[in-house]
Amino acid sequence: MKKAKSTARKENSIEKVLNSISLSQKAPLGMYVLLVILYIATCAIVSSTASSKGVIDIFGVKLGVYAFAGIFSAISNICVMFIVVYFGKLGFITALVALLAQLPMVLVGIIIKGNAESLPGVFTSVFTLIAVVIIYVNNIRIQKYQKKMRDQAVMDRLTGLPNRFACSELVSDLIKREEKFAIVSIDINNFKSINDTMGRNAGNEVLIEAASRWKTIADSDETATLDFISRQSGDEFSLIIRDYNSEEDILNTIRKYQAALEKKITVDNCDLYMTASFGYAQYPTDADSSDAILSSADAAVYELKRINSSNHILRFTPDLLRNERNTEIERKIRTALVNDSLYFNLQPQFDIHHNLRGFEALARMKDADGTMISPGEFIPVAEKAGLIDKVDISVFRNAARFFGQLIKKTGADITLSVNVSVRHLMKNDFLDEIRNVIDNCGVPADKLEIEITESIMIDSAEKALQCINEIKKMGLKIAIDDFGTGYSSLSYLINFPADLLKVDKSFIDKMNSSDSAKQYVAAIISIGHIMNFDVISEGVEEPEQLETLREINCDYIQGFIWGRPLSPEAAEDLVMQTVQK
Ligand code: C2E
Ligand code: MG
Ligand code: MG
Repeated sequence: MKKAKSTARKENSIEKVLNSISLSQKAPLGMYVLLVILYIATCAIVSSTASSKGVIDIFGVKLGVYAFAGIFSAISNICVMFIVVYFGKLGFITALVALLAQLPMVLVGIIIKGNAESLPGVFTSVFTLIAVVIIYVNNIRIQKYQKKMRDQAVMDRLTGLPNRFACSELVSDLIKREEKFAIVSIDINNFKSINDTMGRNAGNEVLIEAASRWKTIADSDETATLDFISRQSGDEFSLIIRDYNSEEDILNTIRKYQAALEKKITVDNCDLYMTASFGYAQYPTDADSSDAILSSADAAVYELKRINSSNHILRFTPDLLRNERNTEIERKIRTALVNDSLYFNLQPQFDIHHNLRGFEALARMKDADGTMISPGEFIPVAEKAGLIDKVDISVFRNAARFFGQLIKKTGADITLSVNVSVRHLMKNDFLDEIRNVIDNCGVPADKLEIEITESIMIDSAEKALQCINEIKKMGLKIAIDDFGTGYSSLSYLINFPADLLKVDKSFIDKMNSSDSAKQYVAAIISIGHIMNFDVISEGVEEPEQLETLREINCDYIQGFIWGRPLSPEAAEDLVMQTVQK
């Protein structure tokens, strides 16, 4: 049993895998058998036609049967050539045997039977033999060259391990064959400090030593699984584990690689004790495409690094991708704040007769490659990372600066609404920031409106209320955003110094298909009016929704039906059209 496993392992050594994924494949064995049969058949025809005295009549032309021997001899030689070209050593030996077996037969015919007509056949055989040797020798040279090129393309120069290309080729190949496997992303811990303190050469020696230990394990019987180790880049390696029965097998294999690295490494007379983080994912359980499975294993290893865990092995779980994406977004927000590259759009708000009321400023962020990241994605990350106040103030300042100039230029009587997170609102310096914006941007306080989301506001009611009262005293308006999604009690609302209720889009969406949703919106509008609030409906897209909102006395409309979020230039055009009317 052990022997069988060992033979299988030998057949699947790293080199074998590399050959199978990167060198041109041999032709199928069936073709070999076919060529050999064709060769034997044509030789038999040649020998029977060459000595035949018969005559064939083709359309009145009389031809001796022996004349066809040449054609079949050519076909047999072509078969031999094909066998050598496509079947390497096996083909070469077959060709030699076939050609050398022909010679004595022809020579016997010439010498013993005195049949001099067979002499050209001898030359043909000798020349074919020479051609076969030349083809074979050339083929070997081409293959050596191919192997050299292959090695350069798929091997890592420093460690001699397969590189990332070889690894992803094998992953794609396994996925194509639907063979289950685990991929482990390995990252050597604190490798940077070796490079920084002992120099790059020492770092290289550590990598070479780690690679050599791991290659020894992969090529040996030490693990119960079939392993393929490769270097991705720097101190990152990948291990592909196959032929396992349970997750425990995977873990046992990883532990072997872990233990091999953790043994002392001596570099420049220094004893180093290295560790590494191993994040792994399984195909097809965790992901079903090549990119996804590699990223999943990476996500697991990044998480290990992030939490700086003493346990150095972690399996991928889907929530890790979310963490990874969030970390990436957080980095992007930080960069955007430093570069001041967060920008804003302005979505128009209208009264029910389609007169412009003002705009809501909405934060926008783009990736380095120009792809938009939606606020639905980056605002919650900014909140969690404690960056929301910086985002809010950046949008607030830029939008207010633009808006101040716009009012000055056009004299329009319009309002600017800005979204403020409650966490930001409750910071002590928030009021100073608002004063600062008003003093520097030239927007009258009563033309500014602060939007606060209902659900968050309720959680922190008391403190929020103090700040909101202060803001009101400064002359700004207050809007309760996404109204209906939280659980405001009526007694709470009655004491709340808001000016505007913004009915959430989710209710507007359902309004025309569900009578109760329509009644609900009508009730919000009535309650809002009783409490002296104006009511605006968000996310209005359909004319039917607009019609219903008119019927139930909604005051204002914000939605794609009358205006999507606009660039400041487009918003300015809209204001110009309005004032020129
Ligand atoms: P919100 O304050 O409720 O803003 C309205 C959102 O609804 C905007 O999405 C707007 O583009 C979208 N919207 C408006 N009308 C329609 C419509 O007819 N159809 C559809 N499908 N969508 C419509 P956006 O810009 O993606 O903003 C999402 C949320 O992100 C905002 O919801 C707000 O809560 C938050 N946000 C945006 N900018 C800021 C900011 O500067 N600071 C803070 N704290 N939050 C912000
Ligand atoms: Mg809003
Ligand atoms: Mg809203």
